[in-house]
Amino acid sequence: MTTVDLRSDTVTKPTPAMLEAMWSAKVGDDVFGEDETINQLEQKTAAIFGMEAGLFCPSGTMTNQIAIKCFTQPLDELIADQTAHVYRYEGGGIAFNSGVSTRLLNGYRGIITAEMIEPEINAENIHYPHTSLVVLENTVNKGGGSCYTLNDIKPIAQLCQDKGLKLHLDGARIFNALAHTGDKAIDYGTYFDGISVCLSKGLGAPVGSVLLADKETIKYARRIRKVLGGGMRQAGFLAAAGIYALDHHVGRLKIDHAHARILGEELGKLPWVSNVLPTETNIVLFDTVEPANAVLAKLAEKGIKALDTGKHRIRFVLHLDVHPEQVEYVVEVLKEL
Ligand SMILES: *Cc1c(COP(=O)(O)O)cnc(C)c1O
Repeated sequence: MTTVDLRSDTVTKPTPAMLEAMWSAKVGDDVFGEDETINQLEQKTAAIFGMEAGLFCPSGTMTNQIAIKCFTQPLDELIADQTAHVYRYEGGGIAFNSGVSTRLLNGYRGIITAEMIEPEINAENIHYPHTSLVVLENTVNKGGGSCYTLNDIKPIAQLCQDKGLKLHLDGARIFNALAHTGDKAIDYGTYFDGISVCLSKGLGAPVGSVLLADKETIKYARRIRKVLGGGMRQAGFLAAAGIYALDHHVGRLKIDHAHARILGEELGKLPWVSNVLPTETNIVLFDTVEPANAVLAKLAEKGIKALDTGKHRIRFVLHLDVHPEQVEYVVEVLKEL
């Protein structure tokens, strides 16, 4: 039976060409700074985003958590949308790793504005935690792949600068956002103090994320990575997959977006679907009349895997291992469900 795995864009397998690049990587001990492939990946990613330096980490959770540690002190507070991955899906790491509290905002599909942030910045007062960081996510995972444009970000960056706050981007799917908005990656470096980029999501690498910041911050971030047990040795084999992904898998993201749009449009026509969120990038969120788990069971019988993100909500995520004929197959199944 066909299997179409729409659970996440993390389920992709390396392509033969990516494996070839991994096999032939030049490696060394990265804790000694001697893995030239990792050094190349870090520099390449930093250059793409107009940042000074990069740090290769095993996961996006680690790059985010290291950034939060770098940009805060214990007893500080950070501001993020209530859907934020750093808050919801990183195991409570903000409190555990950094001793920091979180002020949550109610954005629209995870998108927050300077007007929403400003009143939540604590005044200097012994009663209040010290607000020191704002975290944005682009695209917003739980928002269904919703995007900030750079024009949305500029007033937030300005506010942070005026108030002396750091600004971090959880860019797990930043290349999906760029493909949708047409903004330039190089301009992002101007507005953020830290950027986390995942290689293991839509870009299709098996492992890894890169944290970007200025040289001083990355120097400290390297210490924090070591403390967390993330000092890897000949991990250039993994970095090579990241370099390959940056060179070959960014341009194709618009294919995933087109596939998501097709599924979103079809779902909108079906009587058993009560609502489809706007499909901007590679994620489709929709609500079902029946409980979501009943729908998922029927899809599973047809070899289609997906996740529920609420009692009546299902998520489809498109990625490079979902081919056009599989999208057609999913459409046929949905129509007959
Ligand atoms: C996947 C993801 C991360 C990082 O996840 P890891 O599995 O730790 O690599 C961070 N932020 C968002 C929005 C994500 O979707």
